[in-house]
Amino acid sequence: MKVRTRFAPSPTGYLHIGGMRTALYAYLFAKQRGGDFILRLEDTDRERLVGDAAQKIYDSMKEAGLNYDEGPDVGGDYGPYIQSERRDIYLTYADKLIESGDAYYCFCTKERLDEMHASGATKYDKKCLGLPLEEAKKRVAAGEPYVIRQNVPTEGEYTFHDGVFGDVTVPYADLEDNVLIKSDGLPTYNFANVIDDHLMGITHVIRGVEYLSSTPKYDLLYRALGWEPPEYIHLQPIMRDAQHKLSKRYGAASYKDFINKGYLKDAIVNYIALLGWSPKDNTEKFNMQYMIDNFSVEGLSHSPSIFDEAKLRWLNGIYIKELSEEEFYQHALPFLERVDYLKGYDLKYLAGLLHSRCESFADVGPSECFEDMRKEDDLSVNLTEFLTAFDALTPDLFVNAKNKTDAAVAKQMLPDLIKLTEEHWDDLYPALENYAAEKGVKKGAVLWIYRIALTGATVTPGGATEMATLLGYDRALERLHKALSLLG
Ligand code: GLU
Repeated sequence: MKVRTRFAPSPTGYLHIGGMRTALYAYLFAKQRGGDFILRLEDTDRERLVGDAAQKIYDSMKEAGLNYDEGPDVGGDYGPYIQSERRDIYLTYADKLIESGDAYYCFCTKERLDEMHASGATKYDKKCLGLPLEEAKKRVAAGEPYVIRQNVPTEGEYTFHDGVFGDVTVPYADLEDNVLIKSDGLPTYNFANVIDDHLMGITHVIRGVEYLSSTPKYDLLYRALGWEPPEYIHLQPIMRDAQHKLSKRYGAASYKDFINKGYLKDAIVNYIALLGWSPKDNTEKFNMQYMIDNFSVEGLSHSPSIFDEAKLRWLNGIYIKELSEEEFYQHALPFLERVDYLKGYDLKYLAGLLHSRCESFADVGPSECFEDMRKEDDLSVNLTEFLTAFDALTPDLFVNAKNKTDAAVAKQMLPDLIKLTEEHWDDLYPALENYAAEKGVKKGAVLWIYRIALTGATVTPGGATEMATLLGYDRALERLHKALSLLG
């Protein structure tokens, strides 16, 4: 039998990191077995829908390499792949369940249910199960509002097998007669997931642990309809910390948020894979093909994973280093262009200096420049801060014990350095080297003074002459003169 897995998000916004991980595992599981991976939109909760969310999900999935074989926008033999377009299908099966007594019409009003809960009831009391079917049908025909509920046994227990949790036993008494069809005629998740997974030929259901305890109810529905339930793999959640699930409120939580924060898609996907799965050899950096080859249910974590952005940064830094200079520049450019004080600089040259130091593209400027992606736990550093240091240049910055320099030495040297700059702009480094040799001072001393005078920064990505190139001839000379005048 061909393996078929699916990812079934609700189109309520950008693709969340947790959702993407579910999608990734479902994708890997299917692809490893030569199977199909399906995208289905669960949009029956009409109040939570967000206009362009579906398109955002398609885009993010494709961008991240989670190419689905079937789905709303790519078609397939098992469509429609959007639940709201499958309304009649659900109603047909709901009718069957009513006829077999596995489901029933319920006319209880909201007021009655509220009263019931207010008086301590934790679940529906099956009141409408007692109605004769003929009478219920008459009331439905007369236009009375109703829902359809599942008739769950009150006694006994059910055991099913899960790939991560092993054998799971749930007493029926813990379960409620959930609504299968709502008063608007659309199914709830509790119903639609069963009908769709069966009709779409899904062999393995991979989803969040929040559905684990309801799985017996789903299996009852499969069996009532004469179907074989799929195999289940329930995933532990991704946490922000011990108490909180990862969510928008606690910093970036969607795939797109992390793209906007300057992470590479391959690094994000790689990191997401590690949030709940580890390969046997404990490799941490890998590509999609490696994941397809090595993914295993046994490697799935049995406890929640903590999202660690510092680790994502580290991994992203490795991916960034592997980019060519040109690729790095192209990725960094939109970020560089948002930093005002970088206007007028040769951004390509600057990118070359930053490349090896960058762990996220947002490191190329102050996080304020990326306001919409800034979060209180932002870990980015500003690698171009050195370009703002010159205005705060003070004589004591020339002090360097190792090179035996200070303001006085700088004052002595700077007129020569200005001259060298004017005469040897195109070949500055050897000129500075020769100068050090002629004067009998350390090369480091000359370079230190030159770099401080140009930037006012003790730490720069690149040495003295690289700073000169970055500033350009006019700006370099202007700064050298200013530095000299500062020394009195
Ligand atoms: N729409 C559900 C969710 O987003 C799907 C769960 C499932 O995969 O069955 O959580």
